[in-house]
Amino acid sequence: MTSQDPAIFLNAIERRYKQGEIVLEVLRGVELAVWPGQSVALIAPSGAGKSTLLHIAGLLEHPEVGEVFIDGVATSTLSDAERTRIRRTDIGFIYQFHHLLPEFSAVENVMLPQMIRGLARREAKSRAAEILHYLGLKPRLAHRPAELSGGEQQRVAIARAVANAPKVLLADEPTGNLDTRTAEHVFKTLMQLVQASRLAAIVATHNLELAARMDRRVTIQDGRIVEIT
Ligand code: ADP
Repeated sequence: MTSQDPAIFLNAIERRYKQGEIVLEVLRGVELAVWPGQSVALIAPSGAGKSTLLHIAGLLEHPEVGEVFIDGVATSTLSDAERTRIRRTDIGFIYQFHHLLPEFSAVENVMLPQMIRGLARREAKSRAAEILHYLGLKPRLAHRPAELSGGEQQRVAIARAVANAPKVLLADEPTGNLDTRTAEHVFKTLMQLVQASRLAAIVATHNLELAARMDRRVTIQDGRIVEIT
């Protein structure tokens, strides 16, 4: 492992699905490396394989062929427990809909992934509060998701995703459910966090304006990653 390793490297990834008699070759040799502090917009039409790619990158799905390296470590031959550990500590997920737990407060939602990882309640709480402060949510720590605006809910979801200080951030339309102004605010916050925490971020989005402000833009063409210049 060297400092030059990408935080995530998808190498020769192939993924196919059987739909009845037909075999659908969704990914046909995906190559994608993302370095710490770098944001990559993934822009492709519906059905092109964005979710499949994010699931494989997040170790939620196995490709038929290829390897996912996280911080230089090949993950395909690891045990399920090892993959789960890497997923919990090194990878953060943000979805279009926040998926916060409704009975828990903002700070508790951010504490949970840390406690699952084994952190003591007090430490988890102090770190959760710190991240929420950083994201401008200091007055909202004790609020439940239903008592927060859409933008606030999504910022809590971002805080939860980075609570364990991951190396890789995977986001699927993180601002897709927000109005333009709120989307702008959430996006800015996200990009600040990517830089400040040196995250390697892959963000699937249909928003070309936001994509233009990321470090790189890629698409999926015939099952392969193509850089948009
Ligand atoms: P996107 O996120 O770009 O819309 P997806 O990765 O969700 O694309 O899907 C890519 C293609 O793979 C689609 O045609 C979809 O129907 C198919 N697909 C995705 N998941 C499965 C599955 N579990 N079984 C069969 N086909 C699937």
